[in-house]
Amino acid sequence: MTHRFNISTRARTQLVDITDRVEAAVRESKARSAVAHVFATHTTAGITINENADPSVVADLLAALERMAPDDALYHHSEGNSPAHVKASLVGFCQTVPVEDGKLVLGTWQGIYLCEFDGPRTRHVVVKVQPDAE
Ligand code: ZN
Repeated sequence: MTHRFNISTRARTQLVDITDRVEAAVRESKARSAVAHVFATHTTAGITINENADPSVVADLLAALERMAPDDALYHHSEGNSPAHVKASLVGFCQTVPVEDGKLVLGTWQGIYLCEFDGPRTRHVVVKVQPDAE
């Protein structure tokens, strides 16, 4: 079962907590025991899982990625958004989360994030809920 939703980002780089949206997709699927694949169909945005309690974790993550792919480094890609491409590949485009009793199995502090690296713009997220084989 495949679910899609859009996220409108508001900054050039931003992490948006999409846990509730993914949880809703899992609910809609009515799957009890499954895996949920969460995929961003982009080359300058990705998906990650990290702490959703202290917002400074997200700020530190963005700052660390900025140090790894700084805006003022030399790049070949003429579109001018190479740092965004690099950061998206560093975090990756997909996360897989187990589903038990119809709910995402996430740790107490874990949230699922859409990672915007070249915003603001509208991003598409695909959630594929794959039930266990009978
Ligand atoms: Zn580009």
